[in-house]
Amino acid sequence: MAYDPDNIFAKILRGEIPSNRVFEDDETLVFMDIMPRADGHLLVIPKTPCRNVLDASPEQLAAVMKTVQKMAHVVTQALGADGVTVQQFNEAAGGQEVFHLHFHILPRHEGVSLRAPGQMGDMEQIAALAEKIRAAT
Ligand code: AMP
Repeated sequence: MAYDPDNIFAKILRGEIPSNRVFEDDETLVFMDIMPRADGHLLVIPKTPCRNVLDASPEQLAAVMKTVQKMAHVVTQALGADGVTVQQFNEAAGGQEVFHLHFHILPRHEGVSLRAPGQMGDMEQIAALAEKIRAAT
């Protein structure tokens, strides 16, 4: 399958649609998920195009995983998380909805279940959490 340069995350990368950015380096960008399944739900993406792990280069995956690990530490510190769930989906049959490689980082607290997917978050609360996470990077 070909990469679609008009997917939502490509538009976020180009600044064509808004996002709550919390971290970026030369190769990766991290921003808040607008339908958070946990408080502080983040998405980590490469700045260069690929759909998912099936077409990503080893270099893209290495850059993204380095940022995934960094952000797992950051949310643990910023939000006092007891654990972190990392999720990643490949192609529609694998549960993927946006076809630009991304890893979900879900800060977890003991006894708190993930919320159901597909529910819009409170944008003020998301912005406040983004500020906390940004301050810890
Ligand atoms: P998936 O492709 O299944 O890993 O899911 C895509 C994720 O992107 C979902 O968790 C959505 O809530 C999230 N998402 C979709 N549109 C946006 C957006 N404009 N800004 C931030 N997150 C988004």
